[in-house]
Amino acid sequence: MKKIIHLFKQYLNKYWTFILIAILLIISTTSTVALANLSTVTVKANAVNVRVGPGLSYDLITQVKKDEKLTIIDKKNSWWQVRLAGDKVGWVASWLVDNTEVSPSSNHIGIISQNGANVYKTDDTTSELLGTLQANQKVNVVYQENNWNQILFGKTVGWVQNDDIQTTGKIADTVNKPDSKNTENNKTSNRKLKEDNIKTVTTIQAGVTLRENATTSSAEITKLPANKTMTFLEKENDWYKVKTKSGTVGWVASWLVSISDTDKPVKINANNLSEATIVLDAGHGGKDVGAESSTNKHEAGYTLKTVKAIRDKLKQSGANVILTRDSDKTVALGPRARLSNKKKADAFISIHFDSSASTNSASGFTTYYYDNARDSKLASSINSQLKGLKLDNRGTAFGDYYVLRENDRPSVLLEMGYINSDKDFAQIKTKAYREKIADDVYRGLQEYFK
Ligand SMILES: [Zn+2]
Repeated sequence: MKKIIHLFKQYLNKYWTFILIAILLIISTTSTVALANLSTVTVKANAVNVRVGPGLSYDLITQVKKDEKLTIIDKKNSWWQVRLAGDKVGWVASWLVDNTEVSPSSNHIGIISQNGANVYKTDDTTSELLGTLQANQKVNVVYQENNWNQILFGKTVGWVQNDDIQTTGKIADTVNKPDSKNTENNKTSNRKLKEDNIKTVTTIQAGVTLRENATTSSAEITKLPANKTMTFLEKENDWYKVKTKSGTVGWVASWLVSISDTDKPVKINANNLSEATIVLDAGHGGKDVGAESSTNKHEAGYTLKTVKAIRDKLKQSGANVILTRDSDKTVALGPRARLSNKKKADAFISIHFDSSASTNSASGFTTYYYDNARDSKLASSINSQLKGLKLDNRGTAFGDYYVLRENDRPSVLLEMGYINSDKDFAQIKTKAYREKIADDVYRGLQEYFK
């Protein structure tokens, strides 16, 4: 009997080992599938800028056109990190791409398993060598297929063979990308590269070195800024010989530039307003009715109507417009400023109508700002476009308003006329006046983001 139990136990052990192996196999297969099953989005605006980081303040890498498909890698502040054709990685404003029901793929941390692990441009050992990595370096694996792992590498992506990397189950959200700048010293492949139809070469980051020869040990001619487009002359190994507009000829490392087959530099003057997040704040609302006209009409209703007119106008430009309130409800001042901070608004605009101590004693509109360094450019851009209204423009002025003071973002408060002035109210109550304000604010923002 004892023996039978013993045999049975042995059998169980074997059986469980088998099940464990099966479970592990299933888990590893699913995680590979999850990595390979990346979400793609389609560009819905006519042209969308791809930037180095998640926000308007980052440099442009390139532009993508309507209906192009992009692979989502990550998300930050309503911006998507995407992988483009040609294996570039950059950021696009999420509201400019068709992003229904997508979520960033879970990138996994990979650990390089040996010194000098090669990073290739494509999943092919005969492709261009982008650089090498050292043992124990952590990388962000964005895609896996067959024997290859695609990783984030500097401002682009590269491919590492399975033998050189161990992927972990850990989700990569804190891994720093190996900086491609540091890889400039790495060996270059001797493979003879076929001549493409390259016409221009554009730097993808600031500080790219223009050198006298096609090697990192050659003398430095100058450092180039980001987005500098130069004429392509020839290619040697992983280096491009280029000519700048001022006529300087030198060599740049291929992995620090993007190439184009047109003479025209990458068009970078897309409507930046389309990438901007604008928070519009309709003053007062709900229990707080605001100031009153001589006919007992209240400020809160007109601020909301004006904000809605501005919203409709801005939405046509593709901007991401967020309202602090979109109905007649009570919203405290704290949440209004915090919404601007939380959404990392590129501009915050609060709309109000003034009131003087006695009726009909003041007239006109004023653009208020709080922090000269942060707000004055926004204030003057908008104020300079507020023209052609039938009331006097009283200019820009400092104003210690809570929604400006507690704001971290560029912000202004527009007092668009005295509601207790009959002359001003005759304007304020018309749709034409509010739509003119919307047009002017729109042009002011275009000016600001230029
Ligand atoms: Zn007010």
